[in-house]
Amino acid sequence: MDPSVSVRAFHKNVHGEDIKVAVKAVRGFKDILPGQSENWRAVEDVARDVFESFGLREIRTPVLEKTDVFVRGIGEHTDIVEKEMYTFPDRNGDSLTLRPEATAGVIRAAIEHKLYAESGTLKLFTMGPMFRHERPQKGRLRQFHQINVELLGTDSPLSDGEVIWMAWDVLHELGAQDLRLEVNSLGCPACRKEHRKDLNLYLEQVSPDLCPDCQRRSRTNPLRIFDCKNQRCREVMARAPLIKHHLCPGCSDHFGKVLDVLESVEIPFVINPYLVRGLDYYVRTTFEILASGLGAQNTVAAGGRYDGLVRSLGGPDIPGVGMAIGMERLLLLLDSPSSRMTTDIFVAALGREARDEVMPWIRDWRRMGFVVQMSYEEKSLKAQMKEANRLGAGYVLIVGEDELDREELILRDMKTKEQIAIPMDDVISRVENILNRGDE
Ligand SMILES: [Zn+2]
Ligand SMILES: [Zn+2]
Repeated sequence: MDPSVSVRAFHKNVHGEDIKVAVKAVRGFKDILPGQSENWRAVEDVARDVFESFGLREIRTPVLEKTDVFVRGIGEHTDIVEKEMYTFPDRNGDSLTLRPEATAGVIRAAIEHKLYAESGTLKLFTMGPMFRHERPQKGRLRQFHQINVELLGTDSPLSDGEVIWMAWDVLHELGAQDLRLEVNSLGCPACRKEHRKDLNLYLEQVSPDLCPDCQRRSRTNPLRIFDCKNQRCREVMARAPLIKHHLCPGCSDHFGKVLDVLESVEIPFVINPYLVRGLDYYVRTTFEILASGLGAQNTVAAGGRYDGLVRSLGGPDIPGVGMAIGMERLLLLLDSPSSRMTTDIFVAALGREARDEVMPWIRDWRRMGFVVQMSYEEKSLKAQMKEANRLGAGYVLIVGEDELDREELILRDMKTKEQIAIPMDDVISRVENILNRGDE
């Protein structure tokens, strides 16, 4: 189907007449409005500052990738790849997918541009929208946003520790309360193999008690059963053999050193031996940070080590560790007030001549960094004062014919309602000084 056909702003009523209907956003896709976007930016700024203090640099990859990037990167037998991706053929018949997560695309870019060759450890962060065609339920968006960190090229437990530390510091810096950090080690393929033998024996016995999804998972990806939200599955899995009893000396030592990092920077944690992540590629360290701001505990950040991922995407065999912070969940948690528009000064010019006169002043104040607004229409002073009020103006500069004749303008302080006269030949610096004083 030609996609342009489906974008219809006109419907016909029962009489066959065209009715104009307003177009609406796609279900599960949400606008971030003025008043909200300021909070988004504040969170992003804090994250950038924290990451840059750890020596990370920003990367921005396309939201659209070849489907293969995610099938190979996330794993065929995951809910994301099996049921949740926005996948479609483009006009050439290539299968493309809107990114459901960031890591696979970032690694694709690192391989393509050989970024990992530049230095020992490639430290990257990125932020932006992700897309999953999930069942629409309350609070679940199909376009959601994440802040991501990926460290490539080291398997040092220090790097695992730092990734958790960064996530913790961003949340802490933003004032998130009641955080709970859960950590676990999933072991390496060697210890996973031993664990899987044990787990398979156990699953054979309990299989009839599992939900249909988990019965299928027991054949494809048994670790995922620990992730099932089904109450019955949870009870069954509470008695299942755990990876922690199968960690090889190398993995056990690695995990211990990650915990040492957390202890040395005083980040409290709990070890949750049932914590597995929904993606195939995790090995060794895995973690989640939960927050109890909204009644139920919600995961606001999560991540882990993914040593085999770069190779599975066609790159060299280099290790990696990363994490993601969920923007929407984080913002709900912070309960930030929606911010109002503020304007430093509103210039009420009355008449053509006045308008021409004020333009260079407005230019100069804006270049100084002040928020300066004016009316786009020819309006009475009263109407312009009303507009200035609506825009949250701190001051209004009144420039009419009389003022121009006298070469003396009126500056009104909107808070105190006081008015002072400003000589026109000195207006730029006089107003600058007054606006600067207001900052103090
Ligand atoms: Zn191991
Ligand atoms: Zn289940």
